[in-house]
Amino acid sequence: MPKHILVVEDEPTLARLLSYNLSQEGYQTTLVDHGGEGLLAAQQGSFDLIILDIMLPGMNGFEVLSKLRQKGDKTPVIILTARNAEEEVVQGLKAGADDYITKPFGVAELLARVSAVMRRSGTDSAPVSDEQETAKVIQAAELKIYPEKYEVVLNGEQIQLRPKEFEVLLYLVQRPGVVVSRDDLMNVVWGFDYVGGQRTVDVHVSSLRKKLEMNQETVQIDSIRGLGYKLVIHTNKK
Ligand code: CA
Repeated sequence: MPKHILVVEDEPTLARLLSYNLSQEGYQTTLVDHGGEGLLAAQQGSFDLIILDIMLPGMNGFEVLSKLRQKGDKTPVIILTARNAEEEVVQGLKAGADDYITKPFGVAELLARVSAVMRRSGTDSAPVSDEQETAKVIQAAELKIYPEKYEVVLNGEQIQLRPKEFEVLLYLVQRPGVVVSRDDLMNVVWGFDYVGGQRTVDVHVSSLRKKLEMNQETVQIDSIRGLGYKLVIHTNKK
C-alpha cells in the first residue's frame, strides 16, 4: 500500500510539482487548493502525511491545522511557509505542525523532510529504532553519505559540506556515470522558482569538487562542456 499524502496548496505550479515528485517517490497524493476543502479532506480521508500551505483561500493553514488538532487528529503535518516569515514557522509549530519547509525549496529537501517526518511519526512502513536511524547510508566505494544527517565520509574522513553542496552530491551519487544537466541540479537542489543563475550551480559544484578531490581523488566530478556534470567514482585507487 503506497503512503497517501494530502497536499493543500493553491499555487497550481507548485501543487503539480509536489504531486509529480511525490508520486515519483512512490507516494500516492491528493491535491486540494482551498483551506476549507483541505480540512474536510483531512477529516474524511485517511492520510499518512499532510503538506499544508499557510496562505490559502477560504481558511488559512493555521486554522486548518488548529481545527485538526482540536479534533484529536494526529496526522503528521509539514507546513509550507513564506520566505523571511519566522512568525509563520513559530505559529505553525505551536499549532501542532511536525515540521516546516520555507519557500522556495528544492525537491531534495522536500523529499528528505517528508521521509524524516514519516519515520519520526512511525507512519513509515519500516519499524523505527535508533539503530536503523543511524544505519541509513548510501555507499559508493569509499564514499558514504548519510542523507538524514547531511554527513559525508570519504576514505574514513568526514567532509564538511554546505547543505546545498551536500544535496548536489546526493543527487549526483544516485546517478553515477550519468551526465546531469545544470538545469536538473538547479530544479532539484534550489527549487523550480529559484531566481539565481546557473552560476550558483557552478560555484557549488566547484567548491564541492575541491572538497572531494582533496581526499585522494576517489570521487571526481567531471564537467561535460555544454551539458552538465558527471560523478565518477574510482574503486581501489591508491
Ligand atoms: Ca498559497
